[in-house]
Amino acid sequence: MPYTYDDQNIFAKILRGEIPNTTVLETDHSLAFRDIEPQAPEHVLVIPKGAYVTYDHFANTASDAEILDFTRAVGKVCDMLGVAPSDGEGYRMISNAGENGVQDVPHLHVHVLGGRNMGRMVA
Ligand code: C5P
Repeated sequence: MPYTYDDQNIFAKILRGEIPNTTVLETDHSLAFRDIEPQAPEHVLVIPKGAYVTYDHFANTASDAEILDFTRAVGKVCDMLGVAPSDGEGYRMISNAGENGVQDVPHLHVHVLGGRNMGRMVA
């Protein structure tokens, strides 16, 4: 079944400038900003500017330019936060989807968490 995008979701409002955010990086097709309830010393959300609900929605329907831009934006954020294992201590990347994924905001977002040991992932 096709996805239905709710343009009143909070990240859509952030993208329209209706709600403030702490921007870390903005590119042609993506925005990265600090999570308002950080779960780690570094906690940034990376979102595409397009109307995508989940990662699978994005990966299956976005243009190559959007996918490339988003993928590079996540990598750039890791570099900017200094969490890449090449010169930092590592990070965790999560994207919650749907009910079982316990997704609160129905606009695709990748959480990048670092600055502490994240512990073993639990289901
Ligand atoms: O993956 P999930 O949908 O559960 O996470 C949504 C995230 O968006 C939460 O970590 C929440 O703190 C964050 N958020 C935010 N700014 C808002 C509203 C929610 O950073 N204005």
